[in-house]
Amino acid sequence: MYRKFARRAGSFGGRPRFRGARGGGRNTGSDIHYSKFINKAVITEEVAKFVPEHLFKDFNIDDRIKANIFAKGYSEPTPIQDKIIPHVLRGSDVVGIANTGTGKTAAFLIPLINKVLLNPKEEILVVVPTRELAQQIESELKTFTEGMKIYSVCCVGGAPIGKQIRDLRYWNNFVIGTPGRLKDLIERRVLNLAPFSTIVLDEADRMLDMGFVADMKLIMSKMSKTRHTLFFSATMSREVEQLIKEFLKEPVTVSVKTGDTSKSVDQDIVRTAGKEKIDVLHDLLNSPELSKVLIFGKTKHGVERLSRTLAERGFKADSIHGDKNQNARQRALGKFKKDEIQILVATDVAARGLDIPDVTHVINYDIPATYDDYVHRIGRTGRGGKKGKALTFVG
Ligand code: ADP
Ligand code: MG
Repeated sequence: MYRKFARRAGSFGGRPRFRGARGGGRNTGSDIHYSKFINKAVITEEVAKFVPEHLFKDFNIDDRIKANIFAKGYSEPTPIQDKIIPHVLRGSDVVGIANTGTGKTAAFLIPLINKVLLNPKEEILVVVPTRELAQQIESELKTFTEGMKIYSVCCVGGAPIGKQIRDLRYWNNFVIGTPGRLKDLIERRVLNLAPFSTIVLDEADRMLDMGFVADMKLIMSKMSKTRHTLFFSATMSREVEQLIKEFLKEPVTVSVKTGDTSKSVDQDIVRTAGKEKIDVLHDLLNSPELSKVLIFGKTKHGVERLSRTLAERGFKADSIHGDKNQNARQRALGKFKKDEIQILVATDVAARGLDIPDVTHVINYDIPATYDDYVHRIGRTGRGGKKGKALTFVG
Protein backbone atom coordinates (compact mmCIF):
# COMPACT_ATOMS: atom_id res chain seq x y z
CA MET A 1 0.00 0.00 0.00
CA TYR A 2 2.85 2.33 0.73
CA ARG A 3 4.51 1.30 -2.50
CA LYS A 4 3.21 4.32 -4.33
CA PHE A 5 5.46 6.54 -2.25
CA ALA A 6 8.60 4.89 -3.53
CA ARG A 7 8.64 7.15 -6.54
CA ARG A 8 8.87 10.24 -4.42
CA ALA A 9 12.20 9.27 -2.97
CA GLY A 10 13.93 9.98 -6.21
CA SER A 11 12.02 13.09 -7.08
CA PHE A 12 13.86 15.26 -4.66
CA GLY A 13 16.99 13.23 -4.28
CA GLY A 14 15.78 11.66 -1.07
CA ARG A 15 19.20 10.45 0.00
CA PRO A 16 19.79 10.68 3.73
CA ARG A 17 21.50 14.00 3.97
CA PHE A 18 23.95 12.95 6.62
CA ARG A 19 25.38 10.38 4.32
CA GLY A 20 25.82 13.09 1.73
CA ALA A 21 27.52 15.25 4.31
CA ARG A 22 30.02 12.57 5.20
CA GLY A 23 30.66 11.79 1.58
CA GLY A 24 31.98 15.28 0.98
CA GLY A 25 29.82 16.87 -1.73
CA ARG A 26 27.30 18.32 0.68
CA ASN A 27 23.95 19.21 -0.73
CA THR A 28 23.64 22.94 -0.23
CA GLY A 29 20.00 23.12 -1.09
CA SER A 30 20.79 25.13 -4.20
CA ASP A 31 19.32 22.35 -6.32
CA ILE A 32 15.86 22.80 -4.81
CA HIS A 33 13.95 25.03 -7.16
CA TYR A 34 12.64 28.18 -5.49
CA SER A 35 9.17 27.45 -6.77
CA LYS A 36 9.05 24.68 -4.16
CA PHE A 37 9.20 27.33 -1.45
CA ILE A 38 6.15 29.17 -2.74
CA ASN A 39 2.78 27.72 -2.01
CA LYS A 40 -0.02 30.00 -1.04
CA ALA A 41 -2.31 28.59 1.60
CA VAL A 42 -5.57 27.79 -0.08
CA ILE A 43 -8.20 29.97 1.44
CA THR A 44 -10.99 29.98 -1.15
CA GLU A 45 -11.02 26.24 -1.72
CA GLU A 46 -12.10 25.36 1.80
CA VAL A 47 -11.19 21.71 2.00
CA ALA A 48 -14.16 19.57 2.91
CA LYS A 49 -14.15 19.33 6.67
CA PHE A 50 -12.91 16.01 7.88
CA VAL A 51 -15.65 13.96 9.44
CA PRO A 52 -14.13 11.26 11.63
CA GLU A 53 -15.61 7.81 11.58
CA HIS A 54 -15.22 7.58 15.36
CA LEU A 55 -15.61 9.89 18.25
CA PHE A 56 -13.29 9.39 21.21
CA LYS A 57 -16.20 7.98 23.16
CA ASP A 58 -16.67 5.27 20.50
CA PHE A 59 -13.19 3.84 21.00
CA ASN A 60 -13.00 0.75 23.09
CA ILE A 61 -10.73 2.33 25.67
CA ASP A 62 -10.79 2.86 29.42
CA ASP A 63 -13.05 5.68 30.59
CA ARG A 64 -10.21 7.26 32.55
CA ILE A 65 -8.31 7.81 29.30
CA LYS A 66 -11.40 9.33 27.72
CA ALA A 67 -11.78 11.69 30.67
CA ASN A 68 -8.16 12.83 30.28
CA ILE A 69 -8.59 13.29 26.53
CA PHE A 70 -11.57 15.56 27.12
CA ALA A 71 -9.75 17.39 29.90
CA LYS A 72 -7.06 18.19 27.32
CA GLY A 73 -9.73 19.77 25.17
CA TYR A 74 -9.67 17.30 22.29
CA SER A 75 -13.20 17.03 21.00
CA GLU A 76 -12.73 14.56 18.16
CA PRO A 77 -9.93 12.44 16.70
CA THR A 78 -7.70 13.77 13.93
CA PRO A 79 -7.68 11.70 10.70
CA ILE A 80 -4.62 9.63 11.65
CA GLN A 81 -6.05 8.97 15.12
CA ASP A 82 -9.44 8.09 13.70
CA LYS A 83 -8.00 5.56 11.29
CA ILE A 84 -5.14 4.03 13.24
CA ILE A 85 -6.34 3.72 16.85
CA PRO A 86 -8.73 0.80 16.16
CA HIS A 87 -5.92 -1.20 14.51
CA VAL A 88 -3.51 -0.58 17.38
CA LEU A 89 -6.21 -1.58 19.86
CA ARG A 90 -6.61 -4.83 17.94
CA GLY A 91 -2.88 -5.49 18.24
CA SER A 92 -1.97 -5.08 14.57
CA ASP A 93 1.38 -3.71 13.49
CA VAL A 94 0.78 -0.32 11.95
CA VAL A 95 2.49 2.16 9.68
CA GLY A 96 1.18 5.70 10.05
CA ILE A 97 2.10 8.25 7.44
CA ALA A 98 0.81 11.73 8.08
CA ASN A 99 1.97 15.29 7.74
CA THR A 100 3.53 16.85 10.80
CA GLY A 101 1.19 18.45 13.28
CA THR A 102 -1.63 15.99 12.70
CA GLY A 103 -1.64 14.30 16.10
CA LYS A 104 0.51 11.22 15.61
CA THR A 105 1.62 11.26 19.26
CA ALA A 106 -1.86 10.70 20.63
CA ALA A 107 -2.51 8.20 17.82
CA PHE A 108 -0.07 5.82 19.50
CA LEU A 109 -0.24 6.95 23.11
CA ILE A 110 -4.00 6.55 23.53
CA PRO A 111 -4.25 2.88 22.44
CA LEU A 112 -0.98 1.96 24.16
CA ILE A 113 -2.03 3.45 27.47
CA ASN A 114 -5.14 1.31 27.16
CA LYS A 115 -2.90 -1.69 26.54
CA VAL A 116 -1.08 -0.95 29.80
CA LEU A 117 -4.33 -0.56 31.72
CA LEU A 118 -5.41 -3.98 30.46
CA ASN A 119 -2.06 -5.48 31.40
CA PRO A 120 -0.06 -3.52 33.98
CA LYS A 121 2.94 -5.77 33.26
CA GLU A 122 3.18 -4.35 29.77
CA GLU A 123 6.47 -2.66 28.91
CA ILE A 124 6.58 -0.34 25.93
CA LEU A 125 9.55 1.23 24.22
CA VAL A 126 9.18 4.50 22.32
CA VAL A 127 12.15 5.40 20.13
CA VAL A 128 12.45 8.91 18.73
CA PRO A 129 15.19 10.88 16.98
CA THR A 130 15.76 13.74 19.43
CA ARG A 131 15.88 14.50 23.14
CA GLU A 132 13.32 17.26 22.92
CA LEU A 133 10.86 15.00 21.17
CA ALA A 134 11.32 12.30 23.80
CA GLN A 135 10.61 14.80 26.57
CA GLN A 136 7.62 16.17 24.71
CA ILE A 137 6.15 12.69 24.34
CA GLU A 138 6.73 11.94 28.01
CA SER A 139 4.92 15.10 29.07
CA GLU A 140 2.05 14.29 26.68
CA LEU A 141 1.95 10.79 28.18
CA LYS A 142 1.68 12.29 31.66
CA THR A 143 -1.36 14.35 30.71
CA PHE A 144 -3.10 11.30 29.27
CA THR A 145 -2.27 9.10 32.27
CA GLU A 146 -3.05 11.61 35.01
CA GLY A 147 -4.37 9.74 38.03
CA MET A 148 -3.29 6.31 36.78
CA LYS A 149 -0.46 4.18 38.04
CA ILE A 150 1.52 4.29 34.83
CA TYR A 151 5.23 4.99 35.01
CA SER A 152 7.73 6.20 32.47
CA VAL A 153 11.36 7.12 32.07
CA CYS A 154 13.03 9.30 29.49
CA CYS A 155 16.41 8.00 28.28
CA VAL A 156 18.09 10.63 26.18
CA GLY A 157 21.61 11.75 25.48
CA GLY A 158 22.83 15.01 26.98
CA ALA A 159 21.10 14.28 30.28
CA PRO A 160 22.90 12.58 33.19
CA ILE A 161 22.98 8.85 32.57
CA GLY A 162 23.27 8.07 36.31
CA LYS A 163 19.75 9.26 36.99
CA GLN A 164 18.39 7.27 34.04
CA ILE A 165 20.17 4.17 35.31
CA ARG A 166 18.57 4.68 38.75
CA ASP A 167 15.15 5.31 37.20
CA LEU A 168 15.44 2.15 35.12
CA ARG A 169 15.72 0.09 38.32
CA TYR A 170 12.14 1.04 39.08
CA TRP A 171 9.17 -0.29 37.23
CA ASN A 172 8.38 1.59 34.02
CA ASN A 173 5.57 0.93 31.59
CA PHE A 174 7.01 3.34 29.06
CA VAL A 175 10.67 3.82 28.25
CA ILE A 176 11.04 6.74 25.88
CA GLY A 177 14.43 7.42 24.39
CA THR A 178 16.79 8.27 21.61
CA PRO A 179 18.60 5.41 19.81
CA GLY A 180 22.13 6.29 20.94
CA ARG A 181 21.34 6.51 24.64
CA LEU A 182 19.13 3.42 24.55
CA LYS A 183 21.94 1.46 22.97
CA ASP A 184 24.35 2.72 25.61
CA LEU A 185 21.98 1.60 28.38
CA ILE A 186 21.54 -1.80 26.76
CA GLU A 187 25.30 -2.25 26.52
CA ARG A 188 25.69 -1.29 30.17
CA ARG A 189 23.12 -3.98 30.92
CA VAL A 190 20.82 -1.64 32.79
CA LEU A 191 18.12 -1.84 30.14
CA ASN A 192 16.90 -5.34 29.37
CA LEU A 193 14.55 -5.27 26.41
CA ALA A 194 13.61 -8.95 26.51
CA PRO A 195 10.31 -8.31 28.34
CA PHE A 196 9.36 -5.47 25.99
CA SER A 197 6.84 -6.61 23.44
CA THR A 198 5.68 -3.26 22.08
CA ILE A 199 7.76 -0.67 20.26
CA VAL A 200 6.93 2.68 18.70
CA LEU A 201 9.31 4.12 16.15
CA ASP A 202 8.27 7.76 15.90
CA GLU A 203 9.64 10.02 13.19
CA ALA A 204 11.28 6.97 11.69
CA ASP A 205 12.24 8.88 8.55
CA ARG A 206 14.22 11.32 10.69
CA MET A 207 15.98 8.55 12.55
CA LEU A 208 17.11 7.09 9.24
CA ASP A 209 18.30 10.50 8.05
CA MET A 210 20.28 10.94 11.22
CA GLY A 211 22.10 7.67 10.70
CA PHE A 212 20.43 5.71 13.50
CA VAL A 213 19.51 2.70 11.42
CA ALA A 214 22.06 0.34 13.00
CA ASP A 215 21.03 1.39 16.51
CA MET A 216 17.36 0.89 15.67
CA LYS A 217 18.05 -2.58 14.36
CA LEU A 218 20.10 -3.46 17.41
CA ILE A 219 17.34 -2.25 19.71
CA MET A 220 14.70 -4.32 17.92
CA SER A 221 16.90 -7.42 17.95
CA LYS A 222 16.96 -7.26 21.77
CA MET A 223 13.18 -7.29 22.05
CA SER A 224 10.68 -10.08 22.24
CA LYS A 225 10.28 -11.87 18.90
CA THR A 226 6.52 -11.57 19.08
CA ARG A 227 6.60 -7.87 18.94
CA HIS A 228 3.86 -5.30 18.40
CA THR A 229 5.45 -2.64 16.21
CA LEU A 230 4.10 0.85 15.52
CA PHE A 231 5.86 2.88 12.90
CA PHE A 232 5.28 6.58 12.27
CA SER A 233 6.79 8.80 9.66
CA ALA A 234 5.96 12.03 7.89
CA THR A 235 7.55 10.87 4.65
CA MET A 236 8.13 7.69 2.70
CA SER A 237 11.33 6.68 0.98
CA ARG A 238 12.93 3.49 -0.19
CA GLU A 239 14.89 3.24 3.07
CA VAL A 240 11.76 3.71 5.15
CA GLU A 241 9.99 1.06 3.10
CA GLN A 242 12.90 -1.33 3.55
CA LEU A 243 12.80 -0.93 7.31
CA ILE A 244 9.06 -1.59 7.37
CA LYS A 245 9.48 -4.72 5.30
CA GLU A 246 12.19 -6.00 7.59
CA PHE A 247 10.66 -5.24 10.96
CA LEU A 248 6.87 -5.19 10.74
CA LYS A 249 4.52 -8.13 10.37
CA GLU A 250 1.69 -7.62 7.89
CA PRO A 251 1.27 -4.02 8.95
CA VAL A 252 -1.86 -2.03 8.36
CA THR A 253 -0.75 1.12 6.57
CA VAL A 254 -2.68 4.29 7.18
CA SER A 255 -1.69 7.24 5.09
CA VAL A 256 -3.49 10.50 5.51
CA LYS A 257 -0.96 12.66 3.74
CA THR A 258 -2.31 15.53 1.72
CA GLY A 259 0.56 16.74 -0.41
CA ASP A 260 4.06 17.20 0.93
CA THR A 261 3.26 20.23 3.00
CA SER A 262 0.33 21.22 5.10
CA LYS A 263 -2.35 23.32 3.44
CA SER A 264 -2.43 25.49 6.52
CA VAL A 265 1.04 26.88 5.87
CA ASP A 266 1.36 29.81 3.53
CA GLN A 267 4.75 29.54 1.85
CA ASP A 268 6.72 32.28 0.17
CA ILE A 269 10.25 33.40 -0.58
CA VAL A 270 12.06 36.56 0.47
CA ARG A 271 14.68 37.83 -1.95
CA THR A 272 17.84 39.06 -0.31
CA ALA A 273 20.05 39.73 -3.34
CA GLY A 274 21.96 43.01 -2.99
CA LYS A 275 20.96 43.39 0.66
CA GLU A 276 22.37 42.27 3.95
CA LYS A 277 20.39 39.20 5.01
CA ILE A 278 20.42 40.29 8.63
CA ASP A 279 18.87 43.65 7.76
CA VAL A 280 16.13 42.01 5.73
CA LEU A 281 15.42 39.78 8.71
CA HIS A 282 15.50 42.72 11.13
CA ASP A 283 12.86 44.58 9.08
CA LEU A 284 10.65 41.52 8.88
CA LEU A 285 10.84 40.86 12.60
CA ASN A 286 9.69 44.39 13.34
CA SER A 287 6.26 43.73 11.89
CA PRO A 288 3.75 42.91 14.59
CA GLU A 289 2.27 39.80 13.00
CA LEU A 290 5.62 38.02 13.37
CA SER A 291 4.97 37.41 17.02
CA LYS A 292 6.31 33.88 17.47
CA VAL A 293 9.03 33.12 14.98
CA LEU A 294 11.15 30.03 14.53
CA ILE A 295 14.24 30.75 12.45
CA PHE A 296 16.31 27.99 10.90
CA GLY A 297 20.01 28.21 10.25
CA LYS A 298 22.33 25.65 8.76
CA THR A 299 25.10 25.32 11.34
CA LYS A 300 25.23 25.30 15.13
CA HIS A 301 27.73 28.13 15.03
CA GLY A 302 25.64 30.21 12.60
CA VAL A 303 22.53 29.68 14.72
CA GLU A 304 24.31 30.80 17.89
CA ARG A 305 25.72 33.86 16.16
CA LEU A 306 22.39 34.85 14.64
CA SER A 307 20.61 34.57 17.96
CA ARG A 308 23.25 36.76 19.62
CA THR A 309 23.08 39.33 16.85
CA LEU A 310 19.30 39.53 17.14
CA ALA A 311 19.57 39.93 20.91
CA GLU A 312 22.11 42.71 20.46
CA ARG A 313 19.69 44.40 18.10
CA GLY A 314 17.09 44.40 20.85
CA PHE A 315 14.99 41.37 19.92
CA LYS A 316 13.97 38.78 22.45
CA ALA A 317 15.72 35.80 20.95
CA ASP A 318 17.35 32.56 22.02
CA SER A 319 18.65 29.45 20.30
CA ILE A 320 18.67 25.67 20.36
CA HIS A 321 21.40 23.62 18.73
CA GLY A 322 23.65 20.70 19.48
CA ASP A 323 26.49 22.74 21.03
CA LYS A 324 24.23 23.86 23.85
CA ASN A 325 23.78 21.67 26.86
CA GLN A 326 20.45 20.07 27.54
CA ASN A 327 19.45 22.49 30.29
CA ALA A 328 20.14 25.55 28.19
CA ARG A 329 18.15 24.05 25.30
CA GLN A 330 15.22 23.26 27.56
CA ARG A 331 15.31 26.75 29.02
CA ALA A 332 15.30 28.42 25.59
CA LEU A 333 12.50 26.17 24.40
CA GLY A 334 10.49 26.85 27.55
CA LYS A 335 10.79 30.61 27.14
CA PHE A 336 9.66 30.35 23.53
CA LYS A 337 6.71 28.14 24.43
CA LYS A 338 5.64 30.55 27.15
CA ASP A 339 5.95 33.57 24.81
CA GLU A 340 8.69 35.12 26.90
CA ILE A 341 10.78 35.48 23.77
CA GLN A 342 9.69 36.32 20.23
CA ILE A 343 12.33 34.37 18.37
CA LEU A 344 13.89 30.95 18.57
CA VAL A 345 16.79 30.24 16.23
CA ALA A 346 17.41 26.55 15.63
CA THR A 347 19.25 23.94 13.65
CA ASP A 348 17.26 21.27 11.82
CA VAL A 349 18.24 18.57 14.26
CA ALA A 350 17.39 20.54 17.41
CA ALA A 351 13.93 21.54 16.18
CA ARG A 352 12.92 18.19 14.73
CA GLY A 353 9.40 17.11 15.58
CA LEU A 354 8.90 19.79 18.22
CA ASP A 355 5.35 20.73 18.94
CA ILE A 356 5.35 24.38 19.92
CA PRO A 357 1.90 25.89 20.01
CA ASP A 358 1.05 28.91 17.88
CA VAL A 359 4.28 29.49 15.98
CA THR A 360 3.20 32.26 13.59
CA HIS A 361 6.19 32.11 11.23
CA VAL A 362 8.98 29.81 10.21
CA ILE A 363 11.85 31.62 8.53
CA ASN A 364 14.44 29.69 6.58
CA TYR A 365 17.33 32.09 7.02
CA ASP A 366 19.54 29.48 5.39
CA ILE A 367 18.07 27.29 2.67
CA PRO A 368 17.44 23.75 3.93
CA ALA A 369 19.79 21.05 2.70
CA THR A 370 16.98 18.93 1.26
CA TYR A 371 13.34 19.36 0.41
CA ASP A 372 12.58 16.88 3.12
CA ASP A 373 14.21 19.15 5.68
CA TYR A 374 12.13 21.99 4.29
CA VAL A 375 8.94 20.04 4.83
CA HIS A 376 9.91 19.28 8.42
CA ARG A 377 10.94 22.86 9.15
CA ILE A 378 7.74 24.47 7.96
CA GLY A 379 5.71 21.77 9.72
CA ARG A 380 6.55 23.60 12.98
CA THR A 381 3.89 26.18 12.09
CA GLY A 382 0.26 25.82 10.97
CA ARG A 383 -0.31 23.17 13.62
CA GLY A 384 -3.43 22.08 15.46
CA GLY A 385 -5.84 23.71 13.01
CA LYS A 386 -4.07 27.10 13.00
CA LYS A 387 -2.65 28.95 9.99
CA GLY A 388 1.05 29.58 9.71
CA LYS A 389 3.50 31.23 7.37
CA ALA A 390 6.84 30.03 6.05
CA LEU A 391 9.36 32.43 4.51
CA THR A 392 12.50 31.21 2.78
CA PHE A 393 15.42 33.57 2.18
CA VAL A 394 16.83 33.20 -1.30
CA GLY A 395 19.73 35.11 -2.83
P1 ADP B 1 2.64 15.09 14.88
O1 ADP B 1 3.36 14.09 15.74
O2 ADP B 1 1.74 14.46 13.87
O3 ADP B 1 3.56 16.10 14.26
P2 ADP B 1 1.53 16.01 17.39
O4 ADP B 1 1.19 14.70 17.95
O5 ADP B 1 2.75 16.68 17.93
O6 ADP B 1 1.64 15.94 15.80
O7 ADP B 1 0.22 16.94 17.57
C1 ADP B 1 0.16 18.27 17.07
C2 ADP B 1 -0.72 19.14 17.96
O8 ADP B 1 -2.11 18.78 17.81
C3 ADP B 1 -0.42 18.99 19.45
O9 ADP B 1 -0.43 20.25 20.04
C4 ADP B 1 -1.57 18.15 19.98
O10 ADP B 1 -1.83 18.42 21.34
C5 ADP B 1 -2.71 18.56 19.08
N1 ADP B 1 -3.73 17.49 18.93
C6 ADP B 1 -3.49 16.17 18.73
N2 ADP B 1 -4.64 15.48 18.61
C7 ADP B 1 -5.65 16.38 18.74
C8 ADP B 1 -7.09 16.27 18.73
N3 ADP B 1 -7.70 15.11 18.53
N4 ADP B 1 -7.79 17.41 18.90
C9 ADP B 1 -7.16 18.59 19.09
N5 ADP B 1 -5.82 18.77 19.11
C10 ADP B 1 -5.06 17.67 18.94
MG1 MG C 1 5.21 13.61 16.08
